[in-house]
Amino acid sequence: MTVRNGREFLSIPGPTTVPDEVLRAMHRPAIDLYSGAHLELTASCLADLGRIFGTKGRSYIYAANGHGAWEAAVTNVLSRGDQILVLESGRFAVGWGQMAAMLGVEVEVLPGTYSRAVDPAALEARLRADRAGAIKAVLVVQIDTASSVVNDIPAIRAAIDAAGHNALLMVDTIASLGIMPFAMDDWGVDVAVSGSQKGLMTPPGLGFVAAGAKALRAHGRAGLRTFYWDWTQREGPEHYQKYCGTPPEHLLFGLRQAMDLLFQEGLANVFRRHRLLAEAVRRAVAAWAAGGALGFAVNEPAERADSVTTILLNSGDDPERLRDYCNRHLGVVLGLGIGALSGKAFRIAHMGHINAPMILGTLGAVEVGLGALAIPHGQGGVQAAIDWLAAEVKA
Ligand SMILES: *Cc1c(COP(=O)(O)O)cnc(C)c1O
Repeated sequence: MTVRNGREFLSIPGPTTVPDEVLRAMHRPAIDLYSGAHLELTASCLADLGRIFGTKGRSYIYAANGHGAWEAAVTNVLSRGDQILVLESGRFAVGWGQMAAMLGVEVEVLPGTYSRAVDPAALEARLRADRAGAIKAVLVVQIDTASSVVNDIPAIRAAIDAAGHNALLMVDTIASLGIMPFAMDDWGVDVAVSGSQKGLMTPPGLGFVAAGAKALRAHGRAGLRTFYWDWTQREGPEHYQKYCGTPPEHLLFGLRQAMDLLFQEGLANVFRRHRLLAEAVRRAVAAWAAGGALGFAVNEPAERADSVTTILLNSGDDPERLRDYCNRHLGVVLGLGIGALSGKAFRIAHMGHINAPMILGTLGAVEVGLGALAIPHGQGGVQAAIDWLAAEVKA
């Protein structure tokens, strides 16, 4: 017996639900890539990406996923043999570092765990020890999608400044842009990367990179530059050079519409919606966690992300059973545990095109699953989420 027919709820941390408006905006014929309309589309997308990144620097759009944006960032500012420091707080910064290592960069990881954010004091101490200034860049994620940690980027910037260090600060915002505040220029971030398919509500396939003045100076010396990713190539006089070839037109139509939706709602309201719904999820998880059979991956409440929550199953139950049940019987697709939490956790995404019924529905389905599979858990998770929203979402 299942009760899954109806609209499927995709509750994985990317790709996320694409709004019908965005799907409709993509349902049109291709256009001339040399036309004025396309030039305007490109100009408006680049300008508005800069607005969302919070930078007056340059923005670049790649026909690529987030991994492509990672490679674009690394190859444009670094050279073979350069040293970089990767700040671990889960899976993703480490993955970015592995990519850099394969490109010939010397990668050191500042060790961290899946349960805590990056410690700015540890970063400051490591950079102070680098008297020769050998470390050329610091790589960090704003939200780590595996652990569901949110890192404090201004505090990380402050640590670099306190150490008097000259390294570039490079931030992955793939699971945080359009979800929570990010202010590249105000926060002193030199390079930021993102992707289309999470907070930006567009199908996968666009990678974004923003570069500030210091990163552009480093670009002038970088030895890892390649034709496809190269920022200078993309500043060339022909429109197609912005994409190093044919633009990913339909994804751009979608992105344009998605950014319009974000601006219509207002970015401050978008962030507040995410915060309220994320907290509803956390209230539910806190209730389920009574008794300890289930719990948050991230210990400190202030370090829990507003885009995704990673939930540990401490009972020895296989989280894949829960995911499978919720998917096949209830029509809710939960995220699986990845990296060190593979087989030990599941994830509830709460990013992008989400509202109260989607989140309450997802939480309700998880609670049905926990009950049906007799996985030990505290009662009243959905009720706690309801109580939170009833108190916070004023009439
Ligand atoms: C999803 C994600 C990535 C990888 O993006 P892809 O589009 O899958 O290549 C990188 N970093 C973070 C923080 C992510 O959430």
